[in-house]
Amino acid sequence: MSPKTRILVVEDEDPLRLALCDALRAEGFDVLEAADGEAGLALALREGPDVVLLDLMLPKRDGYSVLRAIREDRLASAVIILSARGEEWDRVQGFEYGADDYVVKPFSTRELLLRLRAVLRRADGEAPGLAPSDRKVRFGECEIDFAAYTVARAGARQGLSRQELGLLRVFLENSGKVLARETLLDLAWGRDEFPTTRTVDMHVLKLRKKIERDPEDPRHIVTVHGVGYRFER
Ligand code: CA
Repeated sequence: MSPKTRILVVEDEDPLRLALCDALRAEGFDVLEAADGEAGLALALREGPDVVLLDLMLPKRDGYSVLRAIREDRLASAVIILSARGEEWDRVQGFEYGADDYVVKPFSTRELLLRLRAVLRRADGEAPGLAPSDRKVRFGECEIDFAAYTVARAGARQGLSRQELGLLRVFLENSGKVLARETLLDLAWGRDEFPTTRTVDMHVLKLRKKIERDPEDPRHIVTVHGVGYRFER
């Protein structure tokens, strides 16, 4: 892991923020910290950290608003949400706004570091080896720009999270094939993470809203009942 990897911690609970920052520094990361949403967003936009660890309930500006602003600014930082237990709505909303992952409080340092490394690996894997011809991919009405993290469809442009791009890449590389949820998990997430097959469904729902003309009647990401999905260009 590069010692220059820069992590921004946005968390208003002092003991948790300090503990996180200590643990991250001990792992050799360059750590920035903020105790409210406004300061966190300002630091994110100024410093462009590799990863933002973002609490949701924050003074001055909540985590969703920070996340939305980060994505609207096309900042390439990965975002891991630190959410309170049982906030199912928050989780869905977080992915909707382009979060890359989340951990549920209280979490262990070990769990957080595993998630963080997984997010960094995905980020590392994407940029290099991306041939110029691969940066933009067209299918149907969509143009995916892998370098800009966007999809353009019917004249509208939307942001895509790293995870959405990763899943889309797996679909594109396996066009026309039926992919089981477990296969998608292995290919797009990696084995040492903790997503469930429900994570796949959640990301497919998000992707459909962005790439399908009618997400209720999808033409590209087709459900194969009892198995998984098939991607059709
Ligand atoms: Ca908080």
